[in-house]
Amino acid sequence: MTQCRICATVRAASHDELRREREAASRADLVELRLDGLARPDPAVALGGRTRPAVVTCRPRWEGGRFEGAEEERCRLLQAALAAGAEYVDVEWRAPFRDELLARFADRIVLSWHDFEGVPADLHGRVRTLLATGAARVKVAVMVRRLGDLPTLAACGRPHGAGGRLVLIGMGQAGVATRILPSTFGSVWTYAGDAAPGQLPLGRLLDEFRVRAVGPGTTVYGVVGRSVRRSVSPAMHNAAFAALKVDAVYLPLETGAFGDVDASRAALGLEGCSVTAPHKVAAARASVLRDPSVSRLDAANTLRWSRSLAGWESTNTDLDGFLVPLTGVELRSLRATVVGAGGAARAVIAGLTDRQARVTVRARDASRARAAAEPFRAEWGPLPVPPGSWDVLVNATPAGSGAEAASSPVDSAALDGRLVYDLIYDPPDTSLLKEARRHGCATIGGLEMLVAQGARQFEWWTGRPAPTDVMREAASRRLAVMLGEDSHRVEERDAP
Ligand code: NAP
Repeated sequence: MTQCRICATVRAASHDELRREREAASRADLVELRLDGLARPDPAVALGGRTRPAVVTCRPRWEGGRFEGAEEERCRLLQAALAAGAEYVDVEWRAPFRDELLARFADRIVLSWHDFEGVPADLHGRVRTLLATGAARVKVAVMVRRLGDLPTLAACGRPHGAGGRLVLIGMGQAGVATRILPSTFGSVWTYAGDAAPGQLPLGRLLDEFRVRAVGPGTTVYGVVGRSVRRSVSPAMHNAAFAALKVDAVYLPLETGAFGDVDASRAALGLEGCSVTAPHKVAAARASVLRDPSVSRLDAANTLRWSRSLAGWESTNTDLDGFLVPLTGVELRSLRATVVGAGGAARAVIAGLTDRQARVTVRARDASRARAAAEPFRAEWGPLPVPPGSWDVLVNATPAGSGAEAASSPVDSAALDGRLVYDLIYDPPDTSLLKEARRHGCATIGGLEMLVAQGARQFEWWTGRPAPTDVMREAASRRLAVMLGEDSHRVEERDAP
C-alpha cells in the first residue's frame, strides 16, 4: 500500500450511520472505523462495500474508548475484521491478546499506545519497543499539556518515523500542531475527526490547513494565546496564503506560558506569530527588535523570527487595525470612552488620542484604568459608565463573548452617545451592539478590526499586499460555522 496521509476516524451509533460517515469521508486516504460506538458491532457489515482502505478499531473503556464487553469478544471482533478483509486492525499495546494477534497478523496491525496523563519520560524507549514488534504501523498518542512538550515529540518522531511506520500524536489543544504537521513529527498519517481531544475534522484539515500541501519547505506561522481554539485567525491567514499561493501554514498554538513559544520555535520551524491575550506584553519584552508601535504600547501582537539577530522582531498592528473601520469618522474633540484597560485598550487609547478625541478610560479596577490612561494623557475613571458622558464608546473587554456572551459592559441607560465600537468579533453582534442600535447609536463590530490588523500582519510577514476580501470572507465563514455548532450543541442539550 502507498503511504497515506489522512486517516478519517468515523464513529457512529448504528452500522448504517457508520457506513454513511465512512463514505462521506471520501477525501481521506483511509478510514478508521470505530466499532466501539456500536451496540452490537459486526465488522463485516461495517467494512462491506467500502471504497478505501480501513483501520478497524474497537477501543475499550480502559484505553479511552467506549467498548465495555469482554476482551475475548474484542479479540474475536478484530479477527472477524481481518477475516472480512480489513487492511489494518488497531491493537492496543496493553491488550491481553496483543502477542497472539501480532504473531499472526503483524503486517496488518496498527499497534497503539495512549497516555492520557502526559508525555512520559521514556517516550523514545516506548516508541522503540513498539516498533521492534514488527507491527505494520505504530501509533503513539500522548497528552500534550504545553507547547513546550512539542520539541520532545519532534525529536522522538523524526528519527523513529524515518521508516514510515510511525504515527505520533500530541493529544489536547497544545498538541494540535502534531495533527497539522505530521511529517514534522515523523508521522506517516494524521487522524481527522472528533474522536479525540484536539483532533480536527477532515474538512478543516484539508481546506483550512491544506495538510496535503504542507511539506518540509512550508513556512509555519501561528496564533499564540491562552485560549485560541475559537480563534478565526487560522482560517483568515490560511485563506490568504492559499489565495496568493504562499507555501505557508498558520496554526493555533495554545499556551498559558509565553516561554513555550521560544521552547518550541525551532521544532515547529515557526517563522512568525500573532500574539493574543495574555502574552502581548511578554512578546514585546522578549523581542530583540521592536518597532515604534511596540515601544509605544509596551505590547506586541506580531512577531517574526530574524535569523540575523537570532531573535524575534515585533510590531503591533492593533492600533492601525482599530482605526481602519473609523476611516472617514471625524473624531477630533469627541468624547471617547474606552471600557477596559488591558492590551487591546492601550492600542485603542493610542489610536483615539492620535485622532484627537478626548479619551476617558474606564475599568472595573480604577487603578488599572489610570495606569492605561496616563501614558497617553487620557482621563480615567471607574465603571459603570455614567449616562451623558460620551460620544464614542469602545468596548475593549471580553464582556459579551465566551462564557459572558449574554452580558454587556455598559448599562442600557448609559447608551446615549453616537457610536459604539465593540472589539469583540465572536459573536459578531454582541448584546452591547444590539442594545446600542436600539438606542439609536451607530455600531461597529470587531471583525473589521480583526481583518485589518491581520492584513497588516500578513504584509509584514510576506512583504505582499494582503487579500483583505479573502481574509474577511474566510473569517466570517469560520465564525458562522462555529456559531452554528454552538447552537446545535444548545439544541442537543435542550432536547427532551
Ligand atoms: P486583556 O488584556 O485580558 O484585558 C481585558 C480587560 O477587560 C481588562 O481591563 C479586564 O479587567 C477587563 N475585563 C474583563 N472582563 C470584564 C468584565 N466582565 N467587565 C468589565 N471589565 C472586564 O484582553 P485584551 O487583549 O485587551 O482584549 C480585550 C477584548 O478585545 C477581547 O474580547 C479581545 O478578543 C478583543 N480584541 C479584539 C481584537 C480584534 O481584532 N477585533 C483585537 C484585540 C482584542 P481586569 O484587569 O480587572 O481583569
